[in-house]
Amino acid sequence: INPNNVEIIISAVKPEQYPDTGLKEVALAGRSNVGKSSFINTMIKRKSMARISSKPGKTQTLNFFNIDEQLVFVDVPGYGYAKVSKTERARWGKMIETYITTRENLAVVIQLVDIRHEPTQDDILMYDFLKHYDIPTIIVATKEDKIPKGKIQKHLKVIRQTLDIDSDDTLISYSSLSKEKNPLIWNAIASYL
Ligand code: GDP
Repeated sequence: INPNNVEIIISAVKPEQYPDTGLKEVALAGRSNVGKSSFINTMIKRKSMARISSKPGKTQTLNFFNIDEQLVFVDVPGYGYAKVSKTERARWGKMIETYITTRENLAVVIQLVDIRHEPTQDDILMYDFLKHYDIPTIIVATKEDKIPKGKIQKHLKVIRQTLDIDSDDTLISYSSLSKEKNPLIWNAIASYL
């Protein structure tokens, strides 16, 4: 996989709008501000590919990125942003539920959580939802550079316990500043393709 060869394919809300690539998809989900666009941009080595899509208040769409004709990243708008109206929240819920429960191309979801904090109620709901539908999940604990190295394992343990992570799922701490874990995460992704 050449992560430099990336093309945004389409923004979609409904299944009729999902792109017809035949490629496996990796969906990315997380609370607003968790570092999802930084993660995507770092993984695909772009400065601002995912930036526009994620701003709270902007149109809530699924954004599909074709990665080197090998796989597709699907950027799911962030959840848990306080200022979002009930109507918008419901629309978001419907959109993600439809995608997760009907999309045959979906290979794995990367759920991002902030390594510094215990997962939120929304994080738990999202993970439980994914497990309910048997969706393989990689949990990426972002911003690991913000805590001392010696505390990383302790924080990962809290995340593992709070989400009650399945033994089949992978939990990886990550920093979009250091990018050290990019190869590890690409390997984890590749194991689901
Ligand atoms: P999104 O709303 O989930 O797309 O989050 P962003 O990618 O926009 O990141 C939110 C904030 O966290 C920004 O100020 C980023 O610079 C910062 N951030 C994201 N990832 C990291 C990281 O790994 N380390 C540090 N120190 N800051 C990060």
